[in-house]
Amino acid sequence: MRAMVFEQVGRPLVAAEREIPRAGPGQLLIEVRACGVCRTDLHLLDGEVSVDHPPRILGHQIVGAAQPGGRIVGVPWLGWTDGDCVYCRGGRENLCANARFTGRDIDGGMAEWTVADERFCFALSDGHPAEQVAPLLCAGLIGYRALRFCGDPPRLGLYGFGASAHIVAQVALWEGREVFAFTRPGDERTQAFARGLGVTWAGHSAEPPPEPLDAAIIFAPDGALVPVALRALARGGTLVLGGIHMSDLPSMPYELLWEERVVRSVANLTRRDGEEFLELAPRVPVRTTVNTYPLERANEALQDLRAGRFSGAAVLVP
Ligand SMILES: [Zn+2]
Ligand SMILES: [Zn+2]
Repeated sequence: MRAMVFEQVGRPLVAAEREIPRAGPGQLLIEVRACGVCRTDLHLLDGEVSVDHPPRILGHQIVGAAQPGGRIVGVPWLGWTDGDCVYCRGGRENLCANARFTGRDIDGGMAEWTVADERFCFALSDGHPAEQVAPLLCAGLIGYRALRFCGDPPRLGLYGFGASAHIVAQVALWEGREVFAFTRPGDERTQAFARGLGVTWAGHSAEPPPEPLDAAIIFAPDGALVPVALRALARGGTLVLGGIHMSDLPSMPYELLWEERVVRSVANLTRRDGEEFLELAPRVPVRTTVNTYPLERANEALQDLRAGRFSGAAVLVP
């Protein structure tokens, strides 16, 4: 099979021919139909999140057909847990100390075939194009978890309007919230994209929103946005940090956090997040904006993501 393989930090993925993997006990052999590209893949390439045992096939937003039979499944970032630690037993398997992650610890979906632990795969309906569904599996799922951590905010800010934010915005608007979209300064194209999805307001991150926010999520991996977003929060507001990696947070006056503002991060996902969100998404309905690339052009997709050259999500198709 054809695969795009991570070999070392700072190097592009390498196109390779590999044996089709074999499913072990409890695993599914999956013919990949589409695999979403995630900012986490950039963090892996850059060494900000480590791949402990390269070479590794990246990709953790996989839609494919399980063989034999061809039923459509989704494979997310959470690929395996021990099921036994204090976090797993307490309903927080996303924090399992022994967790293995798809496309980091286990070969992922930037290939024609993959295998995955059946217990961590989601059943998907066959009625939607695979490339439209793939971004739901991380951008959507982690975004949904981040949104739930915001509580019930009438006014929600989203900093960094990429794959996750464009999905979360649709869910939040459907829930009746006002959504304020923040982009990099000068990124008029993304602001227009956000307005096209119906957000209440779109502007750049250096400008204050027209009203204080009850909650905000930062998806951009930029720690300097933390005091910026806190400044935009009303009293008692919650700020959720949605990424797996962020540049260092700057020093800031306590005043920004006082009045019971909360800052918290989101790590990974639980299977329950996935079940809830995949049930909710068609009811909204969430419509993803996708930019598809042939598998061989994975490096181009990653560079376009890094440079912010498209709106929505990038998806690889074998
Ligand atoms: Zn565990
Ligand atoms: Zn991801």
